Amino acid sequence: MSKDEVVAALTAKRANDARWQDGRTFGMVYDGGPEVHEVADAVASMFLHDNALNTAAFPSLAEIQSEVVRACSDLFHGGPEAAGFMTSGGTESILMAVKAARERGRAERGITEPEMVLAESAHAAFHKGAHYFGVKARKIAVGPDYRADVEAMAAAVNEHTVLVVGSAPQYPQGVIDPIPELAALAADAGANFHTDACMGGFVLPFMEELGEPVPPWDFRVPGVTSISADLHKLGYTPKGASVIIHRTKVLRRYQTFVFDDWLGGFYASPSMQGTRPALPMACAWAVLHHLGVEGYLRLTRTTIDTAQRMANGVRAIAGLRVVGNPEAHLVAIAAAPGEDGTPALDIFAVGDGLQARGWFLDRQAPPDSLHATVSPGNAPVIETFLRDLGEVVTALDGAETADRSTNYATLE
Ligand SMILES: *Cc1c(COP(=O)(O)O)cnc(C)c1O
Repeated sequence: MSKDEVVAALTAKRANDARWQDGRTFGMVYDGGPEVHEVADAVASMFLHDNALNTAAFPSLAEIQSEVVRACSDLFHGGPEAAGFMTSGGTESILMAVKAARERGRAERGITEPEMVLAESAHAAFHKGAHYFGVKARKIAVGPDYRADVEAMAAAVNEHTVLVVGSAPQYPQGVIDPIPELAALAADAGANFHTDACMGGFVLPFMEELGEPVPPWDFRVPGVTSISADLHKLGYTPKGASVIIHRTKVLRRYQTFVFDDWLGGFYASPSMQGTRPALPMACAWAVLHHLGVEGYLRLTRTTIDTAQRMANGVRAIAGLRVVGNPEAHLVAIAAAPGEDGTPALDIFAVGDGLQARGWFLDRQAPPDSLHATVSPGNAPVIETFLRDLGEVVTALDGAETADRSTNYATLE
C-alpha cells in the first residue's frame, strides 16, 4: 500500500472511534488543548524512533528522564533524596511500587509471604501487581463516603504486610483517601506506603496553589514512601508516560533489576520494559516545559470548574445523583433513590442514550454508575452534555437495558 492508501485505510477504520477531539469522552484521553497538541506533534516526530534502553547511545533521554522526574518530585515535595523513574503508564508505576515493596520486605524484614492492604477502590493495577509478583492482596471495603476505612485496614495489617495503599483521588468516585492515617499504619509496620496519584498528581498540587481545599497526600506526609502520577492523564502528555517517585534512593533501589551474567552484556533495568520508546518521554518533557506552572494552573482551573459545573448540573436533574463527594476532577453519576428507595431509573440505559448522542462514559459498579474524568477538552461542551443528559433522562420513561456489564478495560 502507498502512504496515501495506508492513511486513507486507517482514517476509515477510525470512523466509529470516540470523538475526544470534540470533548465527547470523559476518560481515556485528557485533552490539554491545541497548543499542547502542537508541541507534542513536533517533538513526537523528532523522537519517534529513538530508544531509552541504553542512554549511553542517547544521552538526551537520560537528561530528559532525570529532569522530568526531578520536576515531578519537586511538585510532590520530595526532598533532595527523592528519586524515581519514568514508566509507560500508571499500571507500570504501580507494578514497580508493588515489586519494590516486596523486595524491601524480603531484604529488611525477611518476609517470604508478602501481603498488601488496600481499599476496594484502589486501582485494579494493584491486583495485577499482586498477581504478577506473588503478593497477597487484602482488599478492604470502603467507608460510606467511599474513602478507605482506616480502622478496617489497620486490622488487616500484620507481620506479612509489605505495602499499604492509598489513592489521591481514587478512580471510581474521585474521593481522596485519608493518606496520613493510612501512611502511619504502614510506617508502624515497617512497610511501604504508596500514594496512587495517577489521577491527582498533576491536579492536586495546582488546586492547592489555587487555594482550593486539598487534604495531605504527598511526601509532606510522614510514611509515604512512593508516589505514582500519570503524565499521560492530567499532565496532558501523549500516551505512554508516568512517573514513580520514591522518598529515597535506597527505597528506589528495590525497584530496579540488574543482571551481570549474560553473554549480551550488563543489563540494568528500571522497570518492566526492555526497549523504551523515547517518544512519550520527550513529549512529556516538552509539554511540562511548554505549560509550566502557569499553564497547569490555568488548565487546572478550567478542569475543576468544569467538573463542579458537571456535578452541580447532574444534581439538578431529577432522578440522578453524584456518588459521594468528589474532590477534584472525577464525577460518578448514578440514579437517585425513588420513593420506595430503589433507584429511580436505570443509569446504564442513560449511558446508552448518551452513547447514541456521541458521548462516551465508562460504566462501573457497584453502585451502577457512569464514570466521568473531566479535562479541559470537556469545558466547551459541558452545557451541551448536561442538556443532552437531561433530555436522555426525560426520554427514558422507565426503559431499562438488560446489559449490566461494566468495562473499564478490554482484551481484544
Ligand atoms: C489511570 C489510573 C491508573 C492506571 O494508569 P494507566 O496509565 O491506565 O495504566 C492507576 N490508578 C489510578 C487512580 C488511575 O486513575
